[in-house]
Amino acid sequence: MGGRLSGGSSRKLAVLFLAVVAPPAVTLVWLGLQLLEQDRSLWAQRELERRQAAVQAVIRSLEQSLGEAARPTRSPPPAGMVRFTLSEQGVAANPADRVLWLPVTPGLEEAATRQFADAEQLEFQGGSGRALLSYQDMARAPQPAVRAGALLRLARVHRRAKRWDDALRAYRDLVDIFGVAIEGIPADLVARRAVCSVLEEAGRTQELGEETASLEDDFLAGRWMLDQPAWELTATQIEGWRGQRLPRPAEAEAFSAVAEWLWDEWQRNGSEQRPMFGRRRVQGEITLLWGSEGDVLAIAPSVVWAWTEETAEGERLSLLTDAGQLLVGAQPSSGPTVVTRAASETGLPWTLVLNPGDASALSQELVSRRRLLSAGLAAIVLLLGGGSYLLWRVIRQELAVARVQTDFVSTVSHEFRTPLASLRHVTELLQEDDELPAERRRSFYDVLGRNTERLQRQVESLLDFSRMESGQKPYDFEMLDAGELAGQVVADFRKEVGPRGFTVDLEVDAPGSLALRADAAALTSALWNLLDNAVKYSAEGRTIHVSVERHRAGVAISVRDDGLGIPRQEQKEIFRRFVRGAQASRLGIKGTGLGLAMVSHIVRAHDGTIELESEEGAGSTFRLVLPAHA
Ligand code: ADP
Repeated sequence: MGGRLSGGSSRKLAVLFLAVVAPPAVTLVWLGLQLLEQDRSLWAQRELERRQAAVQAVIRSLEQSLGEAARPTRSPPPAGMVRFTLSEQGVAANPADRVLWLPVTPGLEEAATRQFADAEQLEFQGGSGRALLSYQDMARAPQPAVRAGALLRLARVHRRAKRWDDALRAYRDLVDIFGVAIEGIPADLVARRAVCSVLEEAGRTQELGEETASLEDDFLAGRWMLDQPAWELTATQIEGWRGQRLPRPAEAEAFSAVAEWLWDEWQRNGSEQRPMFGRRRVQGEITLLWGSEGDVLAIAPSVVWAWTEETAEGERLSLLTDAGQLLVGAQPSSGPTVVTRAASETGLPWTLVLNPGDASALSQELVSRRRLLSAGLAAIVLLLGGGSYLLWRVIRQELAVARVQTDFVSTVSHEFRTPLASLRHVTELLQEDDELPAERRRSFYDVLGRNTERLQRQVESLLDFSRMESGQKPYDFEMLDAGELAGQVVADFRKEVGPRGFTVDLEVDAPGSLALRADAAALTSALWNLLDNAVKYSAEGRTIHVSVERHRAGVAISVRDDGLGIPRQEQKEIFRRFVRGAQASRLGIKGTGLGLAMVSHIVRAHDGTIELESEEGAGSTFRLVLPAHA
């Protein structure tokens, strides 16, 4: 269409725009990406600092927990801890029920067996009655150790004779003697075990049940300090009577193992080297804190774990032993964000590892900032792109208008030139020869008249158009017959195009009855325009068909040609001013692009509509539908 820019210059404009807009856009994107990258590394740096600060806080918190645990108190340490006291006599545990056995049992007083040698000889040589008397006698001795030995033997005599109650009585008396040992084992424990086995032998199951239950309780409560063989023996016996395995808590077992290690170290090192144990260390899985008075606080992993839980970084912490074994916490991970602090750096007994936490939660802030930045960037790029596109469109339109106006001026001048040349030529002929025959003179006047009329029509139509555009065109409505008006226009038009070989058909439906209220001059101009176009765009066709008929909305005046036709995509556009079809321009058909715009104006002023049916290569029908007036 003439009203548009050609493809080439449009492309050039687009390339120009791209050249102007692309570099800043690319720079902007690049800068944005740099910013994002910088943000990321900044975040990583901050995160590292944050984690280092967090580790520092953890160290302080653990240090505090250790300090609190190590504070000397009279009361036994809280659950999960045992205070071992080392002395030449052995290792004592407080509270005793948190260990299973100890390396050395306290040296208890014990009666020498030879003190009972005589009585035993009697007992084993059949003189049990006399032996009994002798034992009873010794059972009243002032020394507890002797009393204990005597009672044990007294009970044995009764037991052999199956005098169960007497035997039990003797054993129960023995139970009440404390601080004495029999063959290295506390006498009361020996007595308690013996009571159970007597009850078992006697088949007194119920009593056995009660007795063993209470023995088990006392045993597990750490009532007796035993070494490992004595502990195992007693445990096996109780298990036999109870018919179930005794619990051997791993923590208690670990404490027992630590007690043994402590005793070994104590013995190996001379007294002056004993502080060399180190003030803090992890042995096995037990953390040891040396107190000032040769006492050692042993701490189970469960307690250490609870301490880590108290810190803000709890679940991300791992504590390792010197050997690199995991003591508490998660399996330590590796990577740039893992912070490790060796025991030597912190003074804590463990190596500390702060693992990266939930990455998604941590980087949430980063992600949202990134999203914001990206959105901002996208918005700027979009704005730049959109703005440029709009600018490009405006400039393109401006250029198109400028071009259309230039085209218009040249076309209009051209349109005027032809009738003017003809007028000048005929006037010259008339001036040159006064003797021209009347007939020839008249034909010259006819030519003069026609061309003047054509010029006038062109000038009028331009003026009309500008008046219509500014809304100043006055319409002079009157009642007229559509058939008659069409007949008149067609007759005039035939005169104009007849000589060029065009025929114009006219078909009027019900002549004389198609009344309209219209401006005759305006309607004539509209019809003339349509006829003019039909001829201009007729190609090979030489016949134009005009019909006037009744229409459901009033009266329809149609102009049909068998010419070039109009592509579908142009059918709406061509009614706008200065818009010309692509083919019209291509074929060099003269025109201003104003004709159909004018027709539209006129039809609208008459409250009518204009319809177009057209097919490329087959022709077009323009139909003016105007309201009828009875
Ligand atoms: P002009 O004829 O001066 O170009 P118009 O406004 O009368 O301006 O027409 C606009 C365009 O519509 C024309 O350039 C042409 O492409 C198309 N057109 C109008 N009438 C016809 C027709 N009868 N057949 C084919 N094309 C037509």
